[in-house]
Amino acid sequence: MKLKCRTCLREYSDDNKIWQCECGGLLDIIGRNSFDPNKINKTDNSIWRYHQFLPVSSNAIISLGEGMTPIIQETGNLFFKLDYISPTGSFKDRGASVLVSKMKELGIREALEDSSGNAGKAIAAYCGKADIECQIVVPQSTSDSKITNIKNTGANVKIIDGNREKAALEARKLAEYKFYASHCWNPYFLQGTKTIAYEIYEQLQELPDRIIVPVGNGTLILGIYIGLMDLKDSRLIDKIPEIMGTQANLCAPLVNHYRASNNTINSEDYSTTLASGICVARPIRGKQILEYINKFDGKLVAISEDEIFESFNILQKKGYIIEPTAAVGYAAYRQCFNDQKTTLIILTGRN
Ligand SMILES: [Zn+2]
Repeated sequence: MKLKCRTCLREYSDDNKIWQCECGGLLDIIGRNSFDPNKINKTDNSIWRYHQFLPVSSNAIISLGEGMTPIIQETGNLFFKLDYISPTGSFKDRGASVLVSKMKELGIREALEDSSGNAGKAIAAYCGKADIECQIVVPQSTSDSKITNIKNTGANVKIIDGNREKAALEARKLAEYKFYASHCWNPYFLQGTKTIAYEIYEQLQELPDRIIVPVGNGTLILGIYIGLMDLKDSRLIDKIPEIMGTQANLCAPLVNHYRASNNTINSEDYSTTLASGICVARPIRGKQILEYINKFDGKLVAISEDEIFESFNILQKKGYIIEPTAAVGYAAYRQCFNDQKTTLIILTGRN
C-alpha cells in the first residue's frame, strides 16, 4: 500500500507519518486489497470484519465496536441506516477507528484534530483507548455536551473564538508540532467510512437505487463512493447507485458550485444552520466530492431550515433520537422524491 498525492501524483510509502503531500496536496491510499466477500471475518461484528481490506496491520487495531449498525425498513421502499447508534454517537467512529489504529501502528504519541463536535468526540475517544495524547480544536458554536464528552476522554479542548473555518486555521498552525489526525485531510479516515458501503451490500444483499447523505466536509459521501468503487472493481455490482448529497441552504458551498465548469469552491460567507454538523464553508475535499458526483451521476441539493426542523421533529416522533444534521437526508427525500425507487438514508449522528 502507498499514499499518492491527488495534485502532483507523487507516491509515498505507507510508513510515512504524513497527512499531506510536500506540495500541499491531498493524499489517497492506493494498492489496497480488492474487496472479496469470502474474506470477510463474519465472527467480528465491527468494521474490522473487513480488516483484509483496511490499511492497518493486525496488531494495531483500536476498536470500540463501531460499525454493523442496523438498517430499518421504514416503509416499503424506504430504508434508514442507523449510524447514530455508534460508540460515540456518529458515523465518524468508523473513520476514527481506522485512522487511530494507523496512528498506533506508526508509533504516534500526540495528535490534533479540529471539529464541530462529532469528529472531535470520535478522535478523542479512540485516542483515549489507544493511549495517544490528543488535542481537539473546536469552534465556539460546539455544544457544551460534546465539549464535556471530549474533555472526559482526557483530551485537551481548545475553544476558538470564531467559526468552524477559524478552528481549522488554528489547527493547521498547531499541526506543525503534532500529528494532524484530520478527518478531512487524512486519507485513512475515509478508509474507515467506506465500510458503510460494504455493510449496506452485506445487509441488504442488493444495493438500493439511491443513497442519501448529509455533506459538510464530505467524509461520509467520499467513503461511500470509495466503498462502492471497490464493490464495482470486484464486479459485485454493475453500477454505482445514485448518491444524493444534502446540504443546508444557509451553508451550501457544494450545491452552489454543483456542476460548475471549473469545479472551484469559493470562500463565501455562510450562516450558521441548525444542521451544525454540516456547516462547513470550505470543504477541504470539495473538488473530489464534485468530481465523484459528476462522474457517477450523483446529485446535490440544499434544504431550508424549516424543512430540516420539520423532518427532525418527524423522525424524533418516529423514535429516531438523532441530532438535526441527521435529519437533512430525510428532508431531501421528502422534498425531492415520490417514486418507487428503493432509497436508503443514513441517519448520521445523535447529540
Ligand atoms: Zn503533491
